[in-house]
Amino acid sequence: MSIQPFKRIALIGIGLIGSSIARDVRKLGLASEIVVSTRSAATLERAEELRLGDFYTTSAAEAVKGADLVIVSVPVGASESVALQIAPHLRPGTIVTDVGSTKASVIAQMQPHLPSHVHFIPGHPLAGTEKSGPDAGFSGLFKGRWCIFTPLPDTDAEALARLRGFWEALGSRVDEMDPQHHDKVLAIVSHLPHIIAYNIVGTADDLQTVTESEVIQYSASGFRDFTRLAASDPTMWRDVCLHNKDAILEMLARFSEDLAYLQRAIRWGEGDKLYELFSRTRAIRRSIVEAGQDVDVPDFGRHALDKKE
Ligand code: NAP
Repeated sequence: MSIQPFKRIALIGIGLIGSSIARDVRKLGLASEIVVSTRSAATLERAEELRLGDFYTTSAAEAVKGADLVIVSVPVGASESVALQIAPHLRPGTIVTDVGSTKASVIAQMQPHLPSHVHFIPGHPLAGTEKSGPDAGFSGLFKGRWCIFTPLPDTDAEALARLRGFWEALGSRVDEMDPQHHDKVLAIVSHLPHIIAYNIVGTADDLQTVTESEVIQYSASGFRDFTRLAASDPTMWRDVCLHNKDAILEMLARFSEDLAYLQRAIRWGEGDKLYELFSRTRAIRRSIVEAGQDVDVPDFGRHALDKKE
């Protein structure tokens, strides 16, 4: 795949996502220079130790000077503040993108402040882990994963194609949708599962005062699969909940209705209803494997642990 490398990429935010991009940009030679910017001196120092860039600064305004691609990778609630800092320093023709997990809110926060001479293309790579910070990133995170753009109506086709080429070079498959649709889809495939995980782990934590260490001891029965999601970054997920409020509340309402249906089926011993639902959901798992979004290994992700045991 041939892509036109960027001269200077400015990474605003260098946590799991920003540092994974930095590692791939370096490895694949997608830019002549990488400027790393993060708000705290401690994270910046760590990024420098990890050699994630060529220049380092705690000033987002400084970082974007002379950049032809700016990638904002901060919690979605910080988008407006970043836009305000960088806007006066962006040069004409620069592509400005982000990786935030919600899109309508990021657009509302950033677009009004960005100058009309830049190409603002909101994006969201559907790739990540429950870890955060620059040490958590790794090269190859985006390989085989989707990256969704939610372009604005007047987006420049050439800039869009260039950014698409960038994400494809990282190994992603790129799709486009409107921001509201993105936020609805993500509410069900990502946001709701995380909220359910936070809730179930919280409930178990309350119960633990009763059951002592049994919740941990017998966690392999299912509970531990929720704990991975519930270990995700609290700041990121607080912001996702606050910035995709409507879609999440809609999905939670549907979820509660369906849960009440299950509850009634269990109460009244309606085994046929339970069996029908559990068979339907099993088929969904099969389609996820067929779509290459997971592998059909019975104990996926537990191999290293099993070897230790
Ligand atoms: P992360 O590892 O926690 O890193 C966050 C970065 O943002 C750090 O550089 C941090 O700086 C900076 N930051 C935190 N709060 C800030 C604020 N109020 N103002 C300015 N900068 C701030 O986070 P991440 O996982 O890379 O997530 C970054 C973005 O990617 C989020 O919008 C998230 O929704 C999205 N995303 C995450 C995942 C995932 O699985 N994690 C997947 C797809 C998309 P300091 O350390 O210097 O404070």
